[in-house]
Amino acid sequence: TEKEKVAIIGSGNWGSAIARIIATNTAKHENIFEKETKIWVFEELIDGQKLTEIMNTKHENVKYLPGITLPENLIAEPDLIKSVDGATILVFVLPHQFISRTLSTIKEHIKKGCRAITLIKGFVVDDQDEIHLISDMISESLGIQVSALMGANVANEVAQDMFCETTIGCADQKDQEMYLKLFNTKTFRVSTVSDVYGVEICGSLKNIVALGAGFCDGLSFGGNSKAAIMRIGLLEMKKFAQMFYKGVESETFFESCGVADLITTCVGGRNRKVAEAFVKTGKSWNDLEAELLNGQKLQGTLTCDEVHRFLTKKGKIEEFPLFFTIYLIAQKKVEPLRVFDFDEVTTEFK
Ligand code: NAD
Ligand code: 13P
Repeated sequence: TEKEKVAIIGSGNWGSAIARIIATNTAKHENIFEKETKIWVFEELIDGQKLTEIMNTKHENVKYLPGITLPENLIAEPDLIKSVDGATILVFVLPHQFISRTLSTIKEHIKKGCRAITLIKGFVVDDQDEIHLISDMISESLGIQVSALMGANVANEVAQDMFCETTIGCADQKDQEMYLKLFNTKTFRVSTVSDVYGVEICGSLKNIVALGAGFCDGLSFGGNSKAAIMRIGLLEMKKFAQMFYKGVESETFFESCGVADLITTCVGGRNRKVAEAFVKTGKSWNDLEAELLNGQKLQGTLTCDEVHRFLTKKGKIEEFPLFFTIYLIAQKKVEPLRVFDFDEVTTEFK
């Protein structure tokens, strides 16, 4: 039978870390996968040299994952269309604001019968304020089956082989087994579930709660307050998922993609970090992203807006007082200290 050919679309901090795992596994399981694995790199110059050239000679993504050696069978490709040529598995791992353009570029160029897995956290909201899951965007645009991989996976830690777990939501039993071969390692422990939406929504919504956790840190509050924000945030995540998406299972919130990702993001993530600085400095999100993240992208502030627009349209804001209050703080409409006052804030501003 034909071997699976993997294309990784995106090469930021997480894209590079997961590419290291994928290419290690495509080399290990050569009976199932073609060893050579392409990764699409949004080309840029680093001290006058192309990032793809650096990656293909030095085997390191010096900008987004410095200090980590990448496998030699991982090939950086600047041409998006060429990167997906002949691929049977598409791994989407881009900041979510870039997904729509990426899909329209590759739409006519993907192999028939291929499938995809999304590692992207966030939503797309259209002109009518309707919300779309990234998995649905991919499957509707390309007409293919889409799975999701989300978990407590801060990229820099995964890249150093520090033990963690992750969750793959995949509806097809055979593909679950294939994805296990592609992603599982001794230190990156994969569990599979069939609840694709549940997995994806957990990963997307926790970035809103992470901003709340960062506000706690910016205010120099302690672990108790942050734990409260996390607990209440988790309940709003679950409520949102089950209110708007049929079939999302409560158990999914106990997988790595649920409570564990929420915890690690609220302790050591970029959304947390920038939200702390937002409170301490009063600077704008864009300035802080540029100053603190060296080209990496925040997802939480966008997700906050996306979910807010959608909930406004649905008339459901009052049912998500913490999400609403975090949104208002992020918009500088409310003082950060009022994050603990979400019920009153919601009554006041709804
Ligand atoms: P990142 O935050 O490092 O973003 C930088 C990437 O965006 C670079 O590859 C850059 O080339 C690319 N980029 C910039 N402008 C672009 C454009 N106009 N078009 C296309 N690409 C452009 O990216 P990441 O950390 O790999 O995150 C990707 C997704 O994975 C996000 O949804 C994120 O939430 C999720 N995620 C991240 C982590 C993590 O620890 N970094 C962990 C789990 C999941
Ligand atoms: P941040 O984007 O906040 O760093 O979160 C990383 C993450 O999603 C860990 O699983």
